[in-house]
Amino acid sequence: MTTSYKERLARRLTWVTSLIILVVFGIIYFVVSYTVVHSQDRELLLEVEEHSDEIFLVNGEIRFLNKDEWQEQEHSQIQLNPIFIEIVDLEGKSMDRSPNLGENHLSFYPERAGTKEAWTLKTGSREVRQMQVPLRYAGKTEGYLLVAQSFDDTRELLTNLRNILVLLYPVILVSLFLTMKYLAGKSIEPIQKIIQKTNQISQSNLNERVPLPEQNDEIGQLTRSINELLSRLEQALVREKQFTSDASHELRTPLAVLRGTLEVLVRKPRTSEEYIEKIGTALGSIDRMSAMIDQLLALARVGVGGEEFLEEVELHSFTEETTLKASRDSGRKVLFKSYLQIPVFVQINEKSLSMILNNLIQNALKYSKEDTEVVVSVGIHQGHPFISVEDKGRGIGKESLEKIFDSFYREPDVLEEVIPGTGLGLAIVKKLALESGIKVEVQSEKGKGTSFTLFFEEDILSKS
Ligand code: ADP
Repeated sequence: MTTSYKERLARRLTWVTSLIILVVFGIIYFVVSYTVVHSQDRELLLEVEEHSDEIFLVNGEIRFLNKDEWQEQEHSQIQLNPIFIEIVDLEGKSMDRSPNLGENHLSFYPERAGTKEAWTLKTGSREVRQMQVPLRYAGKTEGYLLVAQSFDDTRELLTNLRNILVLLYPVILVSLFLTMKYLAGKSIEPIQKIIQKTNQISQSNLNERVPLPEQNDEIGQLTRSINELLSRLEQALVREKQFTSDASHELRTPLAVLRGTLEVLVRKPRTSEEYIEKIGTALGSIDRMSAMIDQLLALARVGVGGEEFLEEVELHSFTEETTLKASRDSGRKVLFKSYLQIPVFVQINEKSLSMILNNLIQNALKYSKEDTEVVVSVGIHQGHPFISVEDKGRGIGKESLEKIFDSFYREPDVLEEVIPGTGLGLAIVKKLALESGIKVEVQSEKGKGTSFTLFFEEDILSKS
């Protein structure tokens, strides 16, 4: 069985607090016991000093300074807190003792004779605190004076205190545990609300949000983070839906053309010229579909497939090779210009960079006239290496500049003129560039031309 978080929290807090309370109780007991015993010892010392001035041992005989005082009630009657006195010779043999001792004797400890220390011992059924001092006469120790006082009251006080503390300890622990559990439960209540709400949110009601608590504390921040995550998920889902519907729409058009063409063909026998023309149209539709499927696959592959394989790519030679190949394949003038003084290396996936650059060059060729040239340059601008692709073609309208990187977006006049394309090339460029650490900038003027520039971010430059 798993214990709930509030239970664990309460247990841990109780555990720590119980140790602290144990230490505090120990200190209380120690301080009280030290103070009480110490004050009794002081009292005892006063008695010892008082009596050692009154009693003398002279050549083995006891003499009193004031006999009446010695016989004072204190030492002869059984009082609540009486003083017991005993005089012993050098061997510890009892010479005289106060009548309140009855049959009992105080114990003589020769090793503690001159220390003025007190200790606790039992005489008969009573516990006493005793002190002993040597009795001197003419500089010679003649015997010892043992003075004791009942320890019963002090023992009772200490026992009571100990019992109270021992009884109090479990009571405090239990009430502490229950209070902690209650407080822990109260403090995780908002989290339970969050759990409840998030459990209710599914794909169908992804627009719902977790209500924000009143305070902007950690729980408020957690709620906000969850809501932001939900927003991102919702947007991704909307984008995905849009993408799927656009993709099926775009594929349906060439399919419809293909179907229509074939239907016309089978309706009646045709001349071979007609067959050639219609089959040409059908092949065009198939080419369009397969180009679109290729691009859809390329787009789907970006960002999937785990770790990217990064290589050191030298910008000058890479750009020059790509440009020459594009020029050869298209039969158009694609010029290469380099403004680099030294070789510049970037850490990048070469395939991705090649796909980005080729897409831009193909667009530049597609959207400009046959007799115009396309210029591909490489250089450094404000510390950032760049590759740019410039054409003197139809240009892009201001209102379209924001949208050209969206999947399936094509400018209306491009659609009207039936320039072949899928509207996916720049979406692929955008995704690959983002993944590779490249910033894409576009400048264009309608009717004059367009320039796309790839800026390489600092963190992908190779330090050499
Ligand atoms: P496609 O070229 O297949 O239509 P892209 O995503 O590559 O798709 O481009 C999106 C749109 O951006 C194009 O349809 C076109 O309207 C515009 N465009 C892109 N490159 C250029 C360019 N060099 N000159 C003019 N228009 C361009």
